[in-house]
Amino acid sequence: MYSPVHFHDRPSPNHDARPGAVDMLVLHYTGMSSAAAALDRLCSPEAKVSAHYLIDEDGTVWRLVSEGRRAWHAGVSSWRGRRDINGASIGVELVNPGHGPDYRPFPEPQMAALETLARGIIARHPIPPRHVLGHSDVAPQRKIDPGELFDWQRLARAGIGLWPDFTTLPPPAADITELQRQLAEIGYETPPSGAEDAPTTAAISAFQRHFRASLCDGKADRETRRRIAALAAALRTS
Ligand SMILES: [Zn+2]
Repeated sequence: MYSPVHFHDRPSPNHDARPGAVDMLVLHYTGMSSAAAALDRLCSPEAKVSAHYLIDEDGTVWRLVSEGRRAWHAGVSSWRGRRDINGASIGVELVNPGHGPDYRPFPEPQMAALETLARGIIARHPIPPRHVLGHSDVAPQRKIDPGELFDWQRLARAGIGLWPDFTTLPPPAADITELQRQLAEIGYETPPSGAEDAPTTAAISAFQRHFRASLCDGKADRETRRRIAALAAALRTS
């Protein structure tokens, strides 16, 4: 079981009514140097952005928006053909400077706080493992957060999100169209154009950041293609 999280409340005005139930969890990094700077932005009426929670590197958790309201964290996004990701999700921001010279691993107290918080969120809402996502998964052409230094495998070990068994891998997709179909089965918006177009390259990068962090170049090498096939197959039988 999970222990309750102690929240610091810092209400943001940037939310509106939810159109329906919550069944997704979307993780972000702030891309800012400090929690204080991120809180100012996430609570600024002019910025029109927010998240439900912000977790500092020391594990401090702020609650900005009630889970019953739609926070404005994902922007233009898509997953499994759905577009109102904000309407269906809880958004969690992790303090991290983001890609650049200071991009760094998410430290232990922050990850431990996230695990506790996420367990509670999943206990309150029916969020399937395949709906625990990064911002880059739902907006691959615009976003790269939380990025390849985020430890998705650890989170899955804690019972949050998906990490398929990659020890035995199926054959890779035969061609780009099949690869696009597999990516779309997973949830990415990759129309079967048969060409290595911008949506496909972006989805491959997003998949790599999440499921093959040692290589995030947007090029589907054999290992990446086999992991995509493995995840699509695992979801088909689950
Ligand atoms: Zn984000």
